[in-house]
Amino acid sequence: MSSDLYKKIKDIVGEDYVTESEFERFFYSRDVSPIPTELQEKWGTVPDIVARPKNAQEVSKIMAVASQNKIPIIPRGGASWWLGGSVPYKGGIVLDLTSMNNLIDMDENNLTITVDCGVTWKEIEDVLERHSYFLGTRPGSAASATVGGWISTGGVGIGSYKYGSVGDLVRSLEVVLPSGEIIQTQNKDLAGHGSGYNLNRLFIGSEGTLGVITKATLKIIPRHEAGPYHVSYAFSELSGCAEAIKKVVSSRLLPHHIAFGDKRHFMFLASMGKPVPDGEIVLCITLEGEKGIIDYGLKKLDEEFTSTGGCMKCCDGKSHEECEECTIEFRGSRINVYPVPGEIFVGLNRFEEALSKIYDLFDEMGLQAGVIGSMVDRRTTMIMPYYIQEQKESGTFMEFHRRLGELALSVGGRRVGLGLFFSSSLSHIHDEGSVAVMRAIKRCIDPGNILNPGKTVGGFDLFASLNDKKG
Ligand SMILES: Cc1cc2nc3c(=O)[nH]c(=O)nc-3n(C[C@H](O)[C@H](O)[C@H](O)COP(=O)(O)OP(=O)(O)OC[C@H]3O[C@@H](n4cnc5c(N)ncnc54)[C@H](O)[C@@H]3O)c2cc1C
Repeated sequence: MSSDLYKKIKDIVGEDYVTESEFERFFYSRDVSPIPTELQEKWGTVPDIVARPKNAQEVSKIMAVASQNKIPIIPRGGASWWLGGSVPYKGGIVLDLTSMNNLIDMDENNLTITVDCGVTWKEIEDVLERHSYFLGTRPGSAASATVGGWISTGGVGIGSYKYGSVGDLVRSLEVVLPSGEIIQTQNKDLAGHGSGYNLNRLFIGSEGTLGVITKATLKIIPRHEAGPYHVSYAFSELSGCAEAIKKVVSSRLLPHHIAFGDKRHFMFLASMGKPVPDGEIVLCITLEGEKGIIDYGLKKLDEEFTSTGGCMKCCDGKSHEECEECTIEFRGSRINVYPVPGEIFVGLNRFEEALSKIYDLFDEMGLQAGVIGSMVDRRTTMIMPYYIQEQKESGTFMEFHRRLGELALSVGGRRVGLGLFFSSSLSHIHDEGSVAVMRAIKRCIDPGNILNPGKTVGGFDLFASLNDKKG
């Protein structure tokens, strides 16, 4: 027998776009990261209903039903984030937004593209490439990450060093509020500088807790004649690599991307049959721009890196993934292992100290592990330590993440992303007053706390929850 809620949602989206089948709902109870078995029931990670709206009007009507009945709404894109952001806490309606997938308009006069929230970044890139444009920054998961998902996590990616985070790509957003009202956060044809609260920034990184992003207008950039061009240098000492990074960030060079991977990472790739460079740590730089700029950059990098003990390993026009192998570790299932990643921001001034503590952590926990990462800007490193395990289990996962979070704080850094797992870390990132302001904003926009409850400002403590066996 269908529930009343199912009938109401079916009247809005149509029978083919809603389900309350137990089998189908189960697939929406996790994202790429497994939820510890002992917590699935306690947290209520299986939704009551899954709806696949096709436009903002349908999202708005669903929101009205949810508000009236105090039912949680969980926005979901490609579910490629690993912090349980699109996973229910105490059931509710999962909004699978992947049916909202139209590339609506490319405006070559204003250099913008307007897209539905369920379009993937790869789909946008493919269209732009045909017209000789690009976005500047992309997530490593561009093939499955949706526009709404990446904007809602406020992520950084390949190209952030030069072009900024996903937030810097956004001109304007269409957002459905918990009240059902549909707003446009900014004039999509004009820069948003000047007086007034910046509503774009309110929704960027809000993890689906303040509104459902239904459309985005993004800035596009004419493609350069040359590049991207990748060059790798291996260092036998961590200190030489750190010195090399410091030289690049304090120069006038502006690479597209600066990434690194350690020996353990490359040994892991070697076990998958990949050709890998030798060296304790390898630095990969991507340049793009006019040909003269690339030639100058390559010469300058060679001078700087050889003076700090670097040895050139690869220099050609291969793609980011081929050359840097930055995302390959996530395909470990090819050899029946599961890589479990962590992600922290640490100031460049404490990069070496952080890495040395990470290696101590690997040793103390007896982990088969490696480190990759990138420069987010001239000052901030994003370090992604990961370990590999043969089967999914939660004990090591929890211990690793708890200790990594503490480690980040001990070197003046922080976790990246909160999701369902780490919303208690909000108070490690911002001072008490700022957290109070954020909670007040949430109460004001979503007084019924229906949008993605438990996330971001929810103060949810995964580790306490695990220890509390009573639930
Ligand atoms: C191999 C790999 C590489 C990756 N590389 C990167 C990287 O380079 N940079 C990076 O930042 N991340 C990266 N990620 C993590 C992840 O892919 C990104 O965070 C991605 O952008 C999430 O998009 P999604 O559509 O999968 O969102 P989901 O996982 O579905 O959702 C993420 C969050 O956004 C909310 N949300 C989703 N859609 C909407 C919407 N329309 N409106 C409001 N809220 C919404 C959800 O509720 C959830 O809180 C990577 C992941 C993998 C597996």
